[in-house]
Amino acid sequence: MIGLPILMYHGIHTARDARRGVFDARYSVTAEQFARQLDWLGEHGYVPVRLDAARPEGAVVLSFDDGDLSAVEVAMPMLAERGLVGEFCVTTDWVGQPGRIDPAAVRALAEASMGVGSHGRTHRHLADLSAHDLAEELTSSKRALEAWTGRPVDAMSLPGGRGGRREHLAATDAGYRWVMDSVPGPNRTVRPDRYLHRVAVTRRTTVGEFGRLVSWRGVAPRRLAARTAALEVPKRLLGNAGYTRVRGLVRSR
Ligand SMILES: [Zn+2]
Repeated sequence: MIGLPILMYHGIHTARDARRGVFDARYSVTAEQFARQLDWLGEHGYVPVRLDAARPEGAVVLSFDDGDLSAVEVAMPMLAERGLVGEFCVTTDWVGQPGRIDPAAVRALAEASMGVGSHGRTHRHLADLSAHDLAEELTSSKRALEAWTGRPVDAMSLPGGRGGRREHLAATDAGYRWVMDSVPGPNRTVRPDRYLHRVAVTRRTTVGEFGRLVSWRGVAPRRLAARTAALEVPKRLLGNAGYTRVRGLVRSR
């Protein structure tokens, strides 16, 4: 299996004092970096696609979380002028807030043939929610985005980047077909938990690292995956899903 690299962006901000969007010291990528990364993809035969589209050889997904204003004001024009597309995952309660896109911009993304997905309604971490709140979070954000775009919304990325089996089941029940977390990996095989891996692109990502992450070659990706897995152990032991599972095992004895 060739795999499907999915890159995770947040905002394209060149400077901390940028007036537009919400600057993040770690996740804000400069427009210059983003341009070089798009050039690298083109030079190496990669083709950005939407999750709901056919996947040619070299398919890659460029995802943008949160609904930052720079997604529409900077990333979308840079993609459009190259004939490329992205997958924009929007937190619907943030729409219209300072630094975030508004409903007209969500519509503009869809009209520019960009992918529009959910990134929750409130950005609360799904594993922390009751069953009722979980379902509400997933369905209300989907409905709002479908009303703004006028088309089905069936992709989402997890706020906080983590989820378990319960959250994936709830997303499937709510009608999502693709659920991305923030666990790095190449998506060369279907994961037992059915989530799609994503690889974060940060301000510190050099174009060389970018290339190694997209192609998932060399030691850099393995080191990144190992570091993420090491951080994951205490979360799994203490997190809701792990706790519930352990409790279930104890009870079944
Ligand atoms: Zn987020």
